[in-house]
Amino acid sequence: MFAAAVGLVFAAALLAAPKSGKRPPPREKQAAAESEADNERDAADDEEKPVRKTDREWKRLLTGKQYRVTRQRETEPPFSGKYVHTKKEGVYRCVCCGSKLFASQTKFDSGTGWPSFYAPLREKALRAAPDYSDGTPRVEVTCARCEAHLGHVFGDGPQPTGLRYCVNSASLKLDEQPGKDGKPAK
Ligand SMILES: [Zn+2]
Repeated sequence: MFAAAVGLVFAAALLAAPKSGKRPPPREKQAAAESEADNERDAADDEEKPVRKTDREWKRLLTGKQYRVTRQRETEPPFSGKYVHTKKEGVYRCVCCGSKLFASQTKFDSGTGWPSFYAPLREKALRAAPDYSDGTPRVEVTCARCEAHLGHVFGDGPQPTGLRYCVNSASLKLDEQPGKDGKPAK
């Protein structure tokens, strides 16, 4: 019961996130912006710096499939991606800009044919926005840093969040965690 409530709160917070740009009331806007800037600096790396490239540059940097999925919002066919069944440990990064998106610990077998995660590695690494392109309302998930299309988030995931981030393998690059001997963990 409690876990379900937490999941709902999490989902609500996440789904509200795209609108959060207008969250601070005007009077507090400046202070909020300043403290946000401080937080940004505290992040200690420049991962939050937006990465912007022209369509032509992305085309040159990515494979055809990566380009179609991340920049043209195509969905790869189910069970076709290279990370569907991957159980290796590590961090899944954005294939376009390298931003850390998901940890292998939150990956689960959803049976859908796409890599599925119940939580992002860092909430601010992702952006969520309503997507009506399919006829049914969905929530599209993109990389906050470079706007790459990653997939969608649904409310039928496992606990503790109750969320299912359904992500295209073509949008991801697994950074395997080195084992004790310095080799990637199996
Ligand atoms: Zn990215």
